[in-house]
Amino acid sequence: MPSVAEELLAYGLELEAEGAAQVGDSFSGSPDADALLESSPEAFLIGVLFTQGIPAERAWMGPWLLRERLGHLDLRRLAEEPDAVREALQRPPMLHRFKNTLPRWISSAARRLLDEYGGDATRIWASGSHVLEVTERLAAFDGVGRKKAVMTVEILVRRFGVRLEGWECRQVAYDVQVRRVFLRTGLADRDTPDSIARAASRIYPDAPGTLDLAAWLIGRETCRPNVPLCDVCRLHRSCPRRTWLGARGVGVR
Ligand code: SF4
Repeated sequence: MPSVAEELLAYGLELEAEGAAQVGDSFSGSPDADALLESSPEAFLIGVLFTQGIPAERAWMGPWLLRERLGHLDLRRLAEEPDAVREALQRPPMLHRFKNTLPRWISSAARRLLDEYGGDATRIWASGSHVLEVTERLAAFDGVGRKKAVMTVEILVRRFGVRLEGWECRQVAYDVQVRRVFLRTGLADRDTPDSIARAASRIYPDAPGTLDLAAWLIGRETCRPNVPLCDVCRLHRSCPRRTWLGARGVGVR
């Protein structure tokens, strides 16, 4: 029988081979919103800013809804018209519960994209860049930080086929879903960034980040915080089911 590590890796490799987006091969569940994310790297980056504190599908709808309300996603205007961005986000129904910080992050990201990347988000992850370099550049954006930067690198590689160097430095995001799965499966002993990262590296040293979406989907769909659905879980054969363990935090993505 395969071990829990082998089963998780097999799932991660499967998702990678499919070029999976996030949930059910979609980001948002909306073809229009997904098309915007897939065609505009700047909209995708704005989407990353939304991925915090609300369900993933709703977050990835954000750029499209924002464009509907503003009538544009022009970087210069996003940077220079912060009041309009705030009003568009806060208008009922609000696009995000971070009603004051998210508009600031969006205007700040637009400014940084213009000033440092010539208005072209793909320069952040230019082909041939090292994973760590891209992670650092992303994390430097207000409202991104390390967790979202790591998740973003995984999407860039898996979904968008961006060619980065240093796959051994790809990692799983220190996300509440990922953490819960690593703890309950016994793959990690402690709920710390180091412990989770070391466990992922042990399982697949070539590209530990391959496990990111697999663990996140299992955490979201079956390894639920209060009522884990072990019998229908992808890992049901091998998992020791340490279901009394959880991960603290509200980091939904
Ligand atoms: S749902 Fe159950 S079987 Fe699946 S990872 Fe969680 S504890 Fe393990």
